[in-house]
Amino acid sequence: MMGKSHLIISTGITLSIIGMADYKISLPVAAVTAVSALLPDIDEPNSLLVSRAIPKRLIQLFKVALVGLGASVYFLGQAFAPWNILLALLVGLVSFMPTRSLRNVVMILIGAGLIVFGHSLMPWNYLIGCLLIVCALLPHRGLTHTVYGLVVWMLILYFSTHQYDSAIWISGGLSYLLHLLADSITNRGIRPLPPFDWRLKFNLMSTGTWKGKMVENGFIGLTAILVWLVFFRDLNI
Ligand SMILES: [Zn+2]
Repeated sequence: MMGKSHLIISTGITLSIIGMADYKISLPVAAVTAVSALLPDIDEPNSLLVSRAIPKRLIQLFKVALVGLGASVYFLGQAFAPWNILLALLVGLVSFMPTRSLRNVVMILIGAGLIVFGHSLMPWNYLIGCLLIVCALLPHRGLTHTVYGLVVWMLILYFSTHQYDSAIWISGGLSYLLHLLADSITNRGIRPLPPFDWRLKFNLMSTGTWKGKMVENGFIGLTAILVWLVFFRDLNI
């Protein structure tokens, strides 16, 4: 399913349920819900979330900074020759890594920086820092579309935010779960418990076909109706 559809369906249904349960929908709750709706697709090379969070510009900037760092190691470290040359070459080589790997390096650096220096952003420094590092180190494509991915995300959310607002980890977990359920109605389905081969697949739609597109839009429509029923019906507009 498309990133945009996930964003609308998972976020819409989650916020409706949270609203019906009389939790307060604060800005952090809404933000974590939206991120959780897109999070499972983060291991896709062009995922909506990664390309927005780490734009190409930032990676190009990082490459330039690396070349600069390599040059200064070479010139400033001449007393340590030949180690300065070796280190400068190593730093320079990193900038030749493919964009995808560089993006991971940038994600780990930002994540570690947030955890170590981000005390003013409590508790978000831990949450975003862990998230960036976990995503960069994801060993296997498809691992996010599993029960393990869901549990890890809920644990990260719980331990970083439950003292502030218990609605955050509940809505984040629910939104992530809804993404997995939405993917399981496609013809590809998901494998929720690897190494077991069992597939969760309802086969309601084939991705990439016009019929599939219609089913997808149907779910978006149903989400819109739910959101209207929960939040706007009583407004008497
Ligand atoms: Zn997905």
